[in-house]
Amino acid sequence: MGKRKSSKPPPKKVAPKIDTMFTCPFCNHDKAVIAKMDHLTEKGLVLCTICGQKFTSEITHLSEPIDVYSEWIDACEEANM
Ligand SMILES: [Zn+2]
Repeated sequence: MGKRKSSKPPPKKVAPKIDTMFTCPFCNHDKAVIAKMDHLTEKGLVLCTICGQKFTSEITHLSEPIDVYSEWIDACEEANM
């Protein structure tokens, strides 16, 4: 009875990479918008590092930067109507 050799490689841990760099709807700079999620105050902030436009939104513990960003985009579209 020999020891069975395990050739199984250890499971690779892939950290979910959340994209927090978005295109600014105002100046159209790619990857200019950063998102800050404050789960303590339940506020999400997206801010363009190029033109300084920003948008805040209420978040929940399930919210992700993309959610705040898409709310911003929606608000921009509504403002343009
Ligand atoms: Zn901008």
